[in-house]
Order: sequence, then structure tokens, then C-alpha cells
Amino acid sequence: MNFSLTEDQLALQETARKYARERLPSFASHCEIHDEAPPAELVREFAEMGFLGINVSSNYGGLGLGNVEALIVIEELAKVSGAVAFPVFESCVGPVRAIEHFASETLRQHVIPAVCRGEKMVAVSMSEPNAGSALTDLTTKGVRQGDRIVLNGTKRWCSGGGHADGYVVYCRLSDDPGPKGIGAVYVEKATPGLSFGAREHLMGFRGVPSSDLIFEDCAVPLDHVVVPAGGFKQLMEAFDLERCGNATMALAQASGALEDVIAYVKERKQFGKPIVEFQAVQLRLAEMAMRVDAARLLIWRAAANAEKGLPSILESSMAKCFANEIAREVCGHAVQLMGGYGYSREYPMERRLRDAWGWGIAGGAVDIQKVNIAAAMVGRRFDQRR
Ligand SMILES: Cc1cc2nc3c(=O)[nH]c(=O)nc-3n(C[C@H](O)[C@H](O)[C@H](O)COP(=O)(O)OP(=O)(O)OC[C@H]3O[C@@H](n4cnc5c(N)ncnc54)[C@H](O)[C@@H]3O)c2cc1C
Repeated sequence: MNFSLTEDQLALQETARKYARERLPSFASHCEIHDEAPPAELVREFAEMGFLGINVSSNYGGLGLGNVEALIVIEELAKVSGAVAFPVFESCVGPVRAIEHFASETLRQHVIPAVCRGEKMVAVSMSEPNAGSALTDLTTKGVRQGDRIVLNGTKRWCSGGGHADGYVVYCRLSDDPGPKGIGAVYVEKATPGLSFGAREHLMGFRGVPSSDLIFEDCAVPLDHVVVPAGGFKQLMEAFDLERCGNATMALAQASGALEDVIAYVKERKQFGKPIVEFQAVQLRLAEMAMRVDAARLLIWRAAANAEKGLPSILESSMAKCFANEIAREVCGHAVQLMGGYGYSREYPMERRLRDAWGWGIAGGAVDIQKVNIAAAMVGRRFDQRR
């Protein structure tokens, strides 16, 4: 067992950290103030840096590195801003990976190289007005008509909704009830019959556009099926990697907060001395650091054990749940340690707290992760309906 990063991983981390600290703060505040996604020019720059598709096969334009490498970079970028890091998150651990793992070669070639070049962004659309935690209650339906699948239904809370160029849409592709009827199709933004609801206004996640997706007789070619009916288990396996990405986005809010607050408490003076001299401040710092390190180790364990495939539901749910919970706590401590400055919108600290909260709802609420963990521990699923 080795708890150290390799030389190459350390070099990648350092490159990402330096780039993020120097290049991203102005984009971060623009995204936050105007609630706008990062500009296309920055996304193309991510592509030039190799950040879009770090762990995607080189056959499709990625760097062909591992999941750990992708998560290392995501953490460094998201320490500065989750919104700015979002395109990297989507390309490395989001719906693009489901396309890479399960879709036809035609669809892979159509989507993935363009994502790695920074020309296309893909979002995932699973949730519906009446299907959140109970995802298998989703009702959006795709019916085969000749050489097309015709979709009808409404999806909710899609991060990237109205902004992304393509969507991996979970839907019913057969009449089988529950998970058995569920698969996923890829739908391009300009497809007739797809429209978008009003822009959502969330507590955090400013700079990550979100909206409903409305499908009214929206027809897509048959080769846009990512996973046919019966493939819900496969989709959830790919989602185990997204969970590690979600956990990393949450962790980054905490680790970024900790880095900034260490500098702050060394500089800020009260009662004639830097506030780091007060033992209560020292204890808070230690508690924050223990949580950040433990979350990172859980995430890296899940990702490292999955190098040959996708992470396990047990390890990815543990990593997500823990990182989600500590991120809220650690960012709260950081806001407190900065006093009035922590609570002011002039500084990025309060943004981290708002963003951190969202990751514990997105991708499955923390309590749902705990149910997953207990189920994996005892070796059976717990039926939530009985
Ligand atoms: C910032 C953000 C980004 C998102 N991005 C996306 C996206 O890109 N694509 C997408 O498809 N969706 C997205 N979502 C939606 C997200 O996946 C859902 O909000 C989430 O799954 C919870 O569903 P819900 O909101 O319907 O809450 P509900 O399912 O109504 O749950 C509410 C609460 O009830 C409790 N609860 C429910 N069922 C159980 C149970 N069985 N056991 C214990 N407790 C339970 C939990 O505490 C839960 O938090 C996003 C959400 C947020 C907040």
C-alpha cells in the first residue's frame, strides 16, 4: 500500500494548481457575479491543457490517464471555482464516460473527440419532477418509430440545461416496470422537439446553468441509444465514477477553504496578535485538516481500486457521502474563522459554503448514499417502497 502520489501525478497536480491559481480567479468571479458559465475561450484552453478527457482513451482524443489523475486535476481547478471546473468534471467523470463505456462506436466518435477538443459539452439528465431519489419512477419515454426513437416527457434540475450541446437522457425504452425499462439516449441541443424550461436560480452553483428539459415528440436516430432498456445497472456503474467526481468537487470547496483560511488566520490580528495564536483557532484548523485528508483518502481509494473499470458502489458512496458532509462543515468553519469577511460576498469563502451544500443533494442525497452503503455492507438492496 502506497499513500504517496507518483512523480508524474505530483507534477500534474502542481501544473493544475499553478494554472488554477494564476489563471482562474477572474473567470471565477465573473461566473459568480453574472451567473454565467465559463466562456468558450476558457473551455478551449482547458482542451489545450489536456484537461478535457484526462482519463478518456487516446483513441477518442483523451490523455488516456487514470481516474485518480482526473480527480487530482478537478480538485485543483474546483478549489478556485466549481463553476469554472464544471466542464472538466463533465468531460472526465460525467456523462461522457457513460458514452465511452456503453455507446456504439459511431456515437462515441461523434461525441467524445469534440468534447476533448472543447467544442462540445455534454450534460446528464436523470431527475424528473416526481423522480429524484426514487429515480426508477422516471416516466420520460422513448418509443421506437422506424429508425428513430421518439421521446416525450419532462426532466428537471439538469446542470448544463439549455447550455450544454448534448444530453445523456435517462428514459423508459420499454414497457417493463421499474429499472428494467430504463435506458439512456443521447440528444443534441438543437433537436426539434427539445425545449428548455426557465433558468433555475439556486442557492449556489452560480455559473452552472440549470433548467428543465422538455421533450415533445423529439426524434433521435437509433444509434443515439447509449444504453438500451435493461441497462439501468450499467448506467449506475458509470455513475459510481461520477460520484467520485461529485465527492471531489465537494472536497475541493473544503480544501480550497482550508488553504485560504490558513493564510488568513496567520495574517489577521486581534488582541495584538495573529488569530492563529488562539488555541480555539488551532483546534478548528486541525479538525478541518483531518476531515479534508480523510475525504481525499476515501475518494482516491475508490478511484484507485477502480483503475481497471469503474469504482464500487460501496467505496464511491462512502467517498461521496463523507466528502459532501465534511465540505459543508469545513466551509462553515472557514466562514466563521474569517468573521465578517467570511460572510461577505467580496470574498470567495461564502460561495464555497453555498456550493458545498449543493453537492450533497446533486448526484443523490447524502442519506441515499448511506442507504447504499448499508446495502453493500449487508449484501442486499433495501426496498424503499415496502
Ligand atoms: C446543485 C444540483 C445539481 C443537480 N444536477 C443534476 C443533473 O445534472 N442532472 C440530474 O438529473 N439531476 C440533477 N440534480 C437533481 C438531484 O439529483 C436530485 O435533486 C436528488 O437526486 C434528490 O432528488 P429530489 O430533489 O427530488 O429530492 P427527494 O427525492 O424529494 O428527497 C428529498 C430528501 O428526502 C430524503 N429522502 C428521500 N428518499 C429517501 C430515502 N429512501 N431514504 C432516506 N431519505 C430519503 C432525503 O433527505 C432527501 O434529501 C441536481 C440537484 C442539485 C441540487
